[in-house]
Amino acid sequence: ITDKIAALPQDANYFSLEFFPPKTQMGSSNLQARLERMSRALRPLFVTVTWGAGGSTATKSLELAEICQRQLGLTTCLHLTCTNMSRSLVDEALEQAKALGVRNILALRGDPPRSDEYRDEGAPVSGDSNDDFEWAIDLVRYIRKQYGDYFCVGVAAYPEGHSDQSHPEHQDPKFDIPYLVEKVQAGADFIMTQLFFDVKAYSDFEAMLRSHPSGAFKSIPVIPGLMPIQSYQILRRITKLSHARLPPEILSRLDAVKGDDEAVKRVGVDILGEIVQEIKRTKPQGPRGFHFYTLNLEKAVAHIVERTQLIPPISQDEEDSDDAVAVDGDD
Ligand code: FAD
Repeated sequence: ITDKIAALPQDANYFSLEFFPPKTQMGSSNLQARLERMSRALRPLFVTVTWGAGGSTATKSLELAEICQRQLGLTTCLHLTCTNMSRSLVDEALEQAKALGVRNILALRGDPPRSDEYRDEGAPVSGDSNDDFEWAIDLVRYIRKQYGDYFCVGVAAYPEGHSDQSHPEHQDPKFDIPYLVEKVQAGADFIMTQLFFDVKAYSDFEAMLRSHPSGAFKSIPVIPGLMPIQSYQILRRITKLSHARLPPEILSRLDAVKGDDEAVKRVGVDILGEIVQEIKRTKPQGPRGFHFYTLNLEKAVAHIVERTQLIPPISQDEEDSDDAVAVDGDD
């Protein structure tokens, strides 16, 4: 991922898309067809595949990573959590990722089992607590120790602070920064953020990182995480879970249409488009990226990246070998 970012012109923009492994065979086939369309039409710089807490989606996450990396030829980043994971499960995941040609890992701590956000209910959870891995930094160090520079390693960050059970009183980005410095110094190559709707909170956070006296964040790619608005209910649920603030001016635009699902999606595309444009104006040193939490859905993100001109131009070589397809989502 960082090689691809480094190869872009300094003033370029790029984006990535997140997918989670579906629970059923039918869901997987649908997603594969959708991924094919999206990758050809939207041309993300890379895609990411989520990992169920405790390894609950291990098999399905690796299958989806295989589809993305091997079958579709997409630069793929596998999320990997480390708490409640046995060491052998971590080893297996890394070995299999390597065997699939996946070169990027988003190294995460994961949440304790109570969270069902990323879980596949049908799958067993290893539940092994494990002294090797307490925080995400332990996984970053482990990957570097075992694999040297083979993997490009990303880590998570929280523009509005991480609300953790272990320190619920400290939901403040300033509390997390020393640990983020450590993750970068341990060998993280890029930072990807939690979703947010408050652009000022994000801009302040990025400015704080860039000017941090440690110098750890001077040039590392920081990729803001954005979630297209698929429905009023999903938005309220996810912002509550992630503790992302909904600025009143955004909420009132959505409140005005909340009984009409299509209108919510339309206004949602407007809102996300404005957020992207606003962040684009604050130029980092180097290319500006955006990460989209797609929830495996196609249309809203397609409209957003089209409208904000994030789709990269197609080169002549690619055009000759690959007919461009129009975005025609089915969700
Ligand atoms: P850490 O970096 O370990 O930090 C967790 C908290 O502990 C922070 O508040 C930090 O400040 C604090 N902390 C860190 N080190 C110490 C220390 N030594 N002493 C005291 N406090 C410390 N979850 C999944 O289960 N699957 C996924 O696929 C997934 N994908 C994600 C993708 C992104 C981009 C993001 C932002 C989150 C994702 N998550 C996922 C959620 C993530 O696992 C949780 O937010 C988890 O609670 C924290 O993970 P972390 O890697 O940020 O942990």
